[in-house]
Amino acid sequence: MIINIQTLTKQDTLDFDQEVDLSLESLRLLSNVTDYKARVYGTVHKDGELFTVEGFVDVTLELICDRCMNTFQYPLHATLDDQFSNDEAHYLEDEDIKRVTKSSIDLSDSILESIAMAMPMKALCDVDCKGICVKCGTNLNKGTCECEKADIDPRLEALKDIFCLNSKK
Ligand SMILES: [Zn+2]
Ligand SMILES: [Zn+2]
Repeated sequence: MIINIQTLTKQDTLDFDQEVDLSLESLRLLSNVTDYKARVYGTVHKDGELFTVEGFVDVTLELICDRCMNTFQYPLHATLDDQFSNDEAHYLEDEDIKRVTKSSIDLSDSILESIAMAMPMKALCDVDCKGICVKCGTNLNKGTCECEKADIDPRLEALKDIFCLNSKK
Protein backbone atom coordinates (compact mmCIF):
# COMPACT_ATOMS: atom_id res chain seq x y z
CA MET A 1 0.00 0.00 0.00
CA ILE A 2 1.49 3.28 -1.18
CA ILE A 3 0.69 6.68 0.29
CA ASN A 4 1.51 9.72 -1.79
CA ILE A 5 3.31 12.29 0.37
CA GLN A 6 4.26 14.71 -2.40
CA THR A 7 1.45 17.08 -1.62
CA LEU A 8 2.35 17.47 2.07
CA THR A 9 3.78 20.79 3.18
CA LYS A 10 6.57 21.02 5.80
CA GLN A 11 4.20 20.66 8.76
CA ASP A 12 1.17 18.75 7.61
CA THR A 13 -1.23 15.88 8.32
CA LEU A 14 -2.88 13.54 5.85
CA ASP A 15 -5.71 11.09 6.53
CA PHE A 16 -5.87 7.77 4.74
CA ASP A 17 -8.51 5.06 4.61
CA GLN A 18 -8.11 2.29 2.06
CA GLU A 19 -9.25 -1.20 1.20
CA VAL A 20 -6.09 -3.21 0.59
CA ASP A 21 -5.45 -6.63 -0.91
CA LEU A 22 -3.06 -8.47 1.38
CA SER A 23 -1.09 -11.66 0.96
CA LEU A 24 -0.23 -13.03 4.40
CA GLU A 25 1.74 -15.98 3.04
CA SER A 26 5.00 -14.77 4.59
CA LEU A 27 3.45 -14.78 8.08
CA ARG A 28 2.94 -18.56 7.95
CA LEU A 29 -0.36 -18.45 9.81
CA LEU A 30 -2.16 -21.70 10.55
CA SER A 31 -4.78 -21.13 7.87
CA ASN A 32 -6.00 -22.36 4.49
CA VAL A 33 -6.36 -18.79 3.24
CA THR A 34 -3.48 -16.40 2.57
CA ASP A 35 -5.19 -13.62 0.59
CA TYR A 36 -7.36 -11.12 2.41
CA LYS A 37 -8.96 -7.74 2.05
CA ALA A 38 -8.02 -5.38 4.85
CA ARG A 39 -9.05 -1.88 5.78
CA VAL A 40 -6.05 0.32 6.56
CA TYR A 41 -6.74 3.74 8.02
CA GLY A 42 -5.05 6.48 10.00
CA THR A 43 -2.95 9.58 9.59
CA VAL A 44 0.47 10.57 8.30
CA HIS A 45 1.94 13.47 10.18
CA LYS A 46 4.81 15.30 8.54
CA ASP A 47 7.28 17.23 10.63
CA GLY A 48 10.12 18.47 8.44
CA GLU A 49 11.59 15.32 6.88
CA LEU A 50 10.09 12.99 9.48
CA PHE A 51 6.79 11.21 8.76
CA THR A 52 4.86 9.56 11.58
CA VAL A 53 2.18 7.06 10.56
CA GLU A 54 -0.44 6.16 13.13
CA GLY A 55 -3.44 4.02 12.34
CA PHE A 56 -5.09 0.64 12.29
CA VAL A 57 -5.39 -2.48 10.16
CA ASP A 58 -8.73 -4.29 10.33
CA VAL A 59 -8.87 -7.73 8.76
CA THR A 60 -10.92 -10.85 9.43
CA LEU A 61 -8.61 -13.84 9.25
CA GLU A 62 -9.63 -17.41 8.65
CA LEU A 63 -7.59 -19.47 11.09
CA ILE A 64 -7.42 -23.12 12.09
CA CYS A 65 -8.02 -23.75 15.78
CA ASP A 66 -4.95 -25.08 17.61
CA ARG A 67 -7.12 -27.43 19.69
CA CYS A 68 -9.97 -28.72 17.50
CA MET A 69 -8.53 -27.99 14.00
CA ASN A 70 -11.79 -26.35 12.92
CA THR A 71 -11.68 -23.23 10.75
CA PHE A 72 -12.93 -20.07 12.40
CA GLN A 73 -13.10 -16.33 11.68
CA TYR A 74 -10.76 -14.17 13.70
CA PRO A 75 -11.40 -10.39 13.53
CA LEU A 76 -8.01 -8.77 13.97
CA HIS A 77 -7.51 -5.13 14.90
CA ALA A 78 -3.82 -4.26 14.54
CA THR A 79 -2.09 -0.99 15.36
CA LEU A 80 0.13 0.90 12.94
CA ASP A 81 2.77 3.09 14.51
CA ASP A 82 5.81 3.77 12.35
CA GLN A 83 8.22 6.50 11.44
CA PHE A 84 9.69 7.21 8.04
CA SER A 85 12.14 9.72 6.70
CA ASN A 86 13.76 10.62 3.41
CA ASP A 87 16.63 12.27 5.26
CA GLU A 88 19.74 10.08 5.79
CA ALA A 89 20.43 11.84 9.09
CA HIS A 90 17.20 10.30 10.42
CA TYR A 91 17.12 6.76 9.06
CA LEU A 92 20.83 6.06 9.50
CA GLU A 93 20.81 7.27 13.08
CA ASP A 94 17.70 5.40 14.25
CA GLU A 95 17.03 1.94 12.81
CA ASP A 96 13.35 2.16 13.77
CA ILE A 97 12.93 4.93 11.23
CA LYS A 98 12.28 3.49 7.80
CA ARG A 99 13.51 5.02 4.58
CA VAL A 100 11.10 6.59 2.10
CA THR A 101 11.37 8.30 -1.23
CA LYS A 102 10.46 11.95 -1.68
CA SER A 103 7.12 11.07 -3.20
CA SER A 104 5.65 8.11 -1.33
CA ILE A 105 5.55 5.87 1.72
CA ASP A 106 5.16 2.15 1.19
CA LEU A 107 3.20 0.75 4.14
CA SER A 108 3.28 -2.90 2.98
CA ASP A 109 5.95 -4.07 5.47
CA SER A 110 4.44 -2.04 8.31
CA ILE A 111 1.04 -3.64 7.69
CA LEU A 112 2.49 -7.18 7.80
CA GLU A 113 4.50 -6.38 10.93
CA SER A 114 1.48 -4.94 12.72
CA ILE A 115 -0.59 -8.04 11.90
CA ALA A 116 2.19 -10.35 13.12
CA MET A 117 2.36 -8.35 16.38
CA ALA A 118 -1.41 -8.54 16.90
CA MET A 119 -1.70 -12.30 16.37
CA PRO A 120 -2.78 -14.32 19.41
CA MET A 121 -0.19 -16.72 20.90
CA LYS A 122 -2.66 -19.55 20.40
CA ALA A 123 -5.36 -19.53 17.73
CA LEU A 124 -8.47 -20.82 19.47
CA CYS A 125 -11.98 -20.93 17.99
CA ASP A 126 -13.25 -20.26 21.52
CA VAL A 127 -11.46 -19.77 24.86
CA ASP A 128 -13.43 -22.78 26.08
CA CYS A 129 -12.68 -24.96 23.05
CA LYS A 130 -12.62 -28.57 24.28
CA GLY A 131 -10.45 -29.79 21.41
CA ILE A 132 -10.30 -33.24 19.88
CA CYS A 133 -10.16 -36.55 21.71
CA VAL A 134 -6.59 -37.76 21.21
CA LYS A 135 -7.79 -41.37 21.11
CA CYS A 136 -10.77 -41.39 18.72
CA GLY A 137 -10.64 -37.98 17.06
CA THR A 138 -14.11 -36.86 18.15
CA ASN A 139 -14.52 -33.08 18.22
CA LEU A 140 -15.46 -32.66 21.88
CA ASN A 141 -17.22 -29.33 21.18
CA LYS A 142 -19.80 -31.27 19.14
CA GLY A 143 -20.13 -34.47 21.07
CA THR A 144 -18.70 -36.77 23.67
CA CYS A 145 -16.99 -40.09 23.24
CA GLU A 146 -16.50 -43.22 25.29
CA CYS A 147 -12.74 -42.72 25.74
CA GLU A 148 -13.40 -39.59 27.75
CA LYS A 149 -14.48 -41.62 30.75
CA ALA A 150 -11.40 -43.80 30.55
CA ASP A 151 -9.19 -40.75 30.75
CA ILE A 152 -7.84 -40.68 34.25
CA ASP A 153 -6.51 -37.54 35.78
CA PRO A 154 -2.73 -38.02 36.27
CA ARG A 155 -3.17 -37.25 39.98
CA LEU A 156 -5.74 -40.04 40.25
CA GLU A 157 -3.45 -42.32 38.25
CA ALA A 158 -0.84 -41.93 41.01
CA LEU A 159 -3.47 -42.80 43.63
CA LYS A 160 -4.47 -45.88 41.66
CA ASP A 161 -0.87 -47.14 41.84
CA ILE A 162 -0.90 -46.71 45.59
CA PHE A 163 -4.13 -48.69 45.85
CA CYS A 164 -2.67 -51.46 43.71
CA LEU A 165 0.42 -51.67 45.89
CA ASN A 166 -1.74 -51.80 49.00
CA SER A 167 -3.97 -54.54 47.64
CA LYS A 168 -0.94 -56.69 46.82
CA LYS A 169 0.21 -56.66 50.44
ZN1 LIG B 1 -11.39 -25.13 18.63
ZN1 LIG C 1 -12.54 -40.41 22.22
